[in-house]
Amino acid sequence: MVFEKAERLKHLPPYLFAEIDRKKKEVAARGVDIISLGIGDPDLPTPKHIVERLKIASENPRNHKYPDYEGLYEFRLAAASFVEKRFGVKFDPNTEVVSLIGSKEGIAHIPLAFVNPGDIVLVPDPAYPVYNIGTIFAGGQSYIMPLKEENGFLPDIKAIPEEVLKKTKIMHINYPNNPTSATANKGFFKDVIELALKYGFIVCHDMAYSELFYEDEPMSIFSVDGAKEVAIEMHSLSKTYSMTGWRIGFAVGNQSIVEGLGKIKTNVDSGIFQAVQEAGIEALSGSQECVEEYRKIYRERRDFVVERLTRLGYSFFYPKATFYVWVKTPNNMPSADFCSRLLEETGVVVTPGVGFGKYGEGYFRIALTVDKKRMEEAFSRIEKFKF
Ligand code: PLP
Repeated sequence: MVFEKAERLKHLPPYLFAEIDRKKKEVAARGVDIISLGIGDPDLPTPKHIVERLKIASENPRNHKYPDYEGLYEFRLAAASFVEKRFGVKFDPNTEVVSLIGSKEGIAHIPLAFVNPGDIVLVPDPAYPVYNIGTIFAGGQSYIMPLKEENGFLPDIKAIPEEVLKKTKIMHINYPNNPTSATANKGFFKDVIELALKYGFIVCHDMAYSELFYEDEPMSIFSVDGAKEVAIEMHSLSKTYSMTGWRIGFAVGNQSIVEGLGKIKTNVDSGIFQAVQEAGIEALSGSQECVEEYRKIYRERRDFVVERLTRLGYSFFYPKATFYVWVKTPNNMPSADFCSRLLEETGVVVTPGVGFGKYGEGYFRIALTVDKKRMEEAFSRIEKFKF
């Protein structure tokens, strides 16, 4: 039998990376050496001391049981201490911190706790697709906030109509930003919090890339007065410690928002394997030298890519953070066509901007997740690519 899918699945936007995935297989089948600058998944391994902690923790029978839903107290404490040390804001590990099976899980679940059918969620575009998908699953309506280069890829929140704001339950923002690499300043966060306080909606700030910076340290939304009234911030160990496969992150924020998210979680998942949480404690409270070292590697790659793109005459947004470079397609070529032809003719995979939303059209994203040698090889091929 073939079963008909639920309406909510029918409402999902088309998966725009499908064509690139298909072409990648086709080109690889011809024996072409594929270089993927597509996926935001670090090539650098999880630092050794974190892996060692997992090994020991996995042998402890205490960790073989169902974990606590909200996360080990010690993990929540380590998360709160990390945030306090890094951003200077205190959170109560008992009521204002919740562990997440990666920040994706928190982003996907938060609308289920606060959005009723017909409610509006403000979603940036281009963006990580889960803001919109989580909204659809909860029966909400996404209101698109375009991120334009002339505004430094910050949404123009003054342009959002009052009748939209009145029906808004959540606003998603993400800085440092995927895919554009843009960062936000305190003035922007202040305006966002002011608006949220005025209209009584939740601000969900995604800080998955908080530690991947090359210039000023990105700030937490909680550096703004009043943020604890309305905000939650999603944090991830994935990119900072090269732990994407481990599935661990956390959220900090307003007690009632954390509680709502926690309530969904207690009903759909049973938390994170405790041995992984112990490794997470090691990551957050142990030496941060590995973060510094990895940042240095990504910075070198960024400098290399920036130099090569400039030399080849590509126009791009200079990345002060994240491991992405957001580049304009030459001659305003549609991004899917450009990426498809680049892959076909050179074996280099980059991500079409339109996959992140319609305002991503005209751009492509390079991920700095291969080593310098492969990056050099990729660019020697791109150099020969005639568009
Ligand atoms: N947020 C953004 C902007 C991302 O790019 C990603 C992953 O690529 C995530 C959240 C999810 O990260 P994780 O679930 O691994 O913490």
